[in-house]
Amino acid sequence: MPELPEVETIARGLAEAITGKTIASVDVRLPKMAVAAPGVDFAHTLEGQTIVSASRRAKYVILGLSSGQSLVTGLRMTGRFLVQRPGESESPGTHIVLYFTDETRLSYADVRTFGRMRLVEPGEPWDEDLGVEPLSSGFTQEGFIGMLSGRTTPVKALLLDQRRVAGIGNIYACEALWEAGIRPSRPSKALTKAAIGRLHDAIVDVLQRAVEMRGTTVDGYVDANGLQGGFQNVLSVYGRLGEPCLRCGTPIVRTVLAQRGTWWCRNCQR
Ligand SMILES: [Zn+2]
Repeated sequence: MPELPEVETIARGLAEAITGKTIASVDVRLPKMAVAAPGVDFAHTLEGQTIVSASRRAKYVILGLSSGQSLVTGLRMTGRFLVQRPGESESPGTHIVLYFTDETRLSYADVRTFGRMRLVEPGEPWDEDLGVEPLSSGFTQEGFIGMLSGRTTPVKALLLDQRRVAGIGNIYACEALWEAGIRPSRPSKALTKAAIGRLHDAIVDVLQRAVEMRGTTVDGYVDANGLQGGFQNVLSVYGRLGEPCLRCGTPIVRTVLAQRGTWWCRNCQR
């Protein structure tokens, strides 16, 4: 599932590849995946518009349109974007295609069809439920301490809650907790301010490094150019069941927390 670094990489790739292109036509093959306000024709509204930007919020890719509207896409489990030239073969599960006037196209594929591409009107508050961006100046140690204080929720479950800190998924939650030396099941309110400070810094560090390495490919993730990420080569704990902890040598264990596989070190994560 693409998390913040993967979606950031996809958005940067799209910004480079399709900004300035004009949509000639739109092919919606699975109508449930194209969402628009009542009475708005998704395909017809897009035709003739120019892509003016590509950016990210949480795990969503946002394509800015010349009308001031946006196309907001949550890739969910298996969604992917591919920028393609005429004659290039389609990915399995291609459900929406934007054809540009220069004959290239943007294909939106999602084998499991959980993702949605939503046409958002100017000023429409689509992201009200999303929490702070962890790589923004709004993510402060003080704010993070306030977020965790008094909560009995296991700290890892809190990290996965998109209403609090947006964009962290299973991989980077495991990695940040290992880096901070914190047991994933610890109740949030049991953490000292010093531990929360370490976790805050670990989240920022892990996400920044993963963005620099263009994300993690462990489940088929590729960017908009079809390229894999690099962070899977430097994972400290995620997916390393039975392998020695890089800090203390103790074999990494896997438990299930909030219905997600959780890799951690019983010795140095307390
Ligand atoms: Zn360890």
